[in-house]
Amino acid sequence: MTYDVAVIPGDGIGPEVVDHAMALVEEAAAAHDVSFETTRYDWGSERYLAEGAMMPADALDRLRGYDAIFLGAVGHPDVPDHVTLHGLRLEITKGFKQHVCKRPSYLFEGVTSPLREYAGGDIDFVVYRQNTEGEYADLGGREYGGFDNEVAVQSALFTREGTETIVRAAFEAATERAGKLTNITKSNAQAHGMVFWDDIVTEVGEEYPSVEVERLLVDAASMDFVRRPDEFDVIVASNLFGDILTDLGAGIVGSLGLAPSSNIDPTRIHPSMFEPVHGSAFDITGKGIANPIGTVLSWKLLWEHLGEEALARALHDAVAAQLADPGAPRTPDIGGDSGTEAVVDDLRLRIE
Ligand code: NAD
Ligand code: MN
Repeated sequence: MTYDVAVIPGDGIGPEVVDHAMALVEEAAAAHDVSFETTRYDWGSERYLAEGAMMPADALDRLRGYDAIFLGAVGHPDVPDHVTLHGLRLEITKGFKQHVCKRPSYLFEGVTSPLREYAGGDIDFVVYRQNTEGEYADLGGREYGGFDNEVAVQSALFTREGTETIVRAAFEAATERAGKLTNITKSNAQAHGMVFWDDIVTEVGEEYPSVEVERLLVDAASMDFVRRPDEFDVIVASNLFGDILTDLGAGIVGSLGLAPSSNIDPTRIHPSMFEPVHGSAFDITGKGIANPIGTVLSWKLLWEHLGEEALARALHDAVAAQLADPGAPRTPDIGGDSGTEAVVDDLRLRIE
């Protein structure tokens, strides 16, 4: 069979990392007898500025038939961030019920963590972030009469389907990893949605008696990400907390430019979407120095999701070998002076 993948390079460094990584992904797939075709969609902020929408009105119908979607990044200096985010990424994650955002944080050998005492392999956890609702539900407003003050309301939404799906995915992952799940909330301050969330963790946890469950409030968890990151295995968190914690996770394993992400519909009724954790990074756009490894590792997650384990492992092993080699090219975010293209060209030589 031939897999069909929709590719949305998006804005800023999105097209830089996506287009450069493609040559590597194509060669690796060919070496593993995996056949795939991509269709490129030029959706994003340039389209918004020209036509008033990030994507066409029938975007979801166009994407529906693909085996997977690959996204670069969105975000443009001339377009409000809430427009770029809600107009593309969130429309796809919500429309395709991609409730599960899986984001591994792994400290590769050869990468320096800002936390000095940790070496390669010492930090190895995966965050399961609720991806379709929570604090990112588009609920609220600014027009409220009857107050003698200006008022804005921003509500968080927690549904049983959205919560149970992410919690179950996290428990499943814990059974396949070290058997430990850390549930991160702020249920002391947010006593409605997050107590509901905690109740669902307790309820679903009864089906997974072998998994050890730890509870942390998000403020304490942030400190523990710095103080004892080696003790985490699987983490489950709401949309906002998972978003924040995964940038922190990327920071402690060396760079945001290394971090991969996946947006998964576990029912597989809809296609899942894969993307690096980082955004469009205006500060380095056009300089040719964006780290492509977050993108390459996101393709690894894509192939893993589609069951192409050997191909996924080949991409992972090439990245691990490159990072462990002190003579290999690396981008400035991880201490080198090479560009995106040189890093990808070197990875191509390391595919087995
Ligand atoms: P960002 O992730 O774009 O950049 C944060 C910092 O990390 C910057 O200093 C950047 O140079 C660096 N960085 C990011 N990716 C890198 C890479 N591959 N290689 C080397 N360095 C890298 O976040 P930001 O600056 O807060 O946001 C910029 C824009 O991106 C905003 O419009 C924001 O809304 C958008 N954004 C989009 C997504 C997404 O598309 N999923 C995610 C986050 C931010
Ligand atoms: Mn983010």
